[in-house]
Amino acid sequence: MTPIVEVRALHKRFGELEVLKGIDLVVNEGEVVSIIGSSGSGKTTLLRCLNLLEEFHQGEVRIGGESIGYRQRNGQRVRASEREIAGQRAMTGMVFQAFNLFPHMSALDNVTLGLTRVRGMSRRQAVELADHWLERVGMRERRDHRPAQLSGGQQQRVAIARAIAMNPRVMLFDEATSALDPERVGEVLETIRSLAQEGMTMVLVTHEMRFARDVSDKVVFMDGGRIAEQGPPATLFSTPESARLQAFLKTSS
Ligand code: ADP
Repeated sequence: MTPIVEVRALHKRFGELEVLKGIDLVVNEGEVVSIIGSSGSGKTTLLRCLNLLEEFHQGEVRIGGESIGYRQRNGQRVRASEREIAGQRAMTGMVFQAFNLFPHMSALDNVTLGLTRVRGMSRRQAVELADHWLERVGMRERRDHRPAQLSGGQQQRVAIARAIAMNPRVMLFDEATSALDPERVGEVLETIRSLAQEGMTMVLVTHEMRFARDVSDKVVFMDGGRIAEQGPPATLFSTPESARLQAFLKTSS
């Protein structure tokens, strides 16, 4: 098994508040890992550290074997340059709760933008690849629509196509369905599920317990900035060991 994400002894503070208190986590190639836990337990912050949207104070994050965000200079830990960080960030594809599409651009142009600007593809190559992924998420027919002309579920599917078209080593989903109308949740979960079945490596922060149980190879339960329990979904959901997880599952099912 090839590790794609390796997190070691990760600590993160916001001012005085320590929100990640020593996280160790490995995600292997093709694995789907769901992170569950109560609000405020540090799930989103952990995901944002994997994407270098947050700085962290101690520990290490490796993506595809490369240590990201920091390097050693004269025995000191220093932040990597903005240029290095941009390159390292591109190894992950992030999908946010609030779609974050550019409102003045069509679905197609939202997907091609990174391909031409960051990946240096020609317009023709970028359109071909964007069409492939828009088709894959069921949005090719609406490629010329702007975000305001699309439902939340459709916008989120475009956001998924945009992230995955960049060919990341791992896709990160931060509560990707929380902002959707209930009747739109299913279509986005189905899209994520089909990508998972194709072998995409994924880390998902989710409140959808049934979905986490269905698609994940491993579920991680966070509590108070630590991983309190982790394991295959069948074990974790059926025989939770800690009282905290038992209580959490009771309130969230
Ligand atoms: P979760 O995703 O599990 O709900 P978060 O990672 O969003 O948890 O938050 C963990 C803790 O960090 C919370 O106490 C939250 O208030 C705090 N926090 C998150 N982001 C910031 C920030 N930018 N500044 C200060 N505190 C923050």
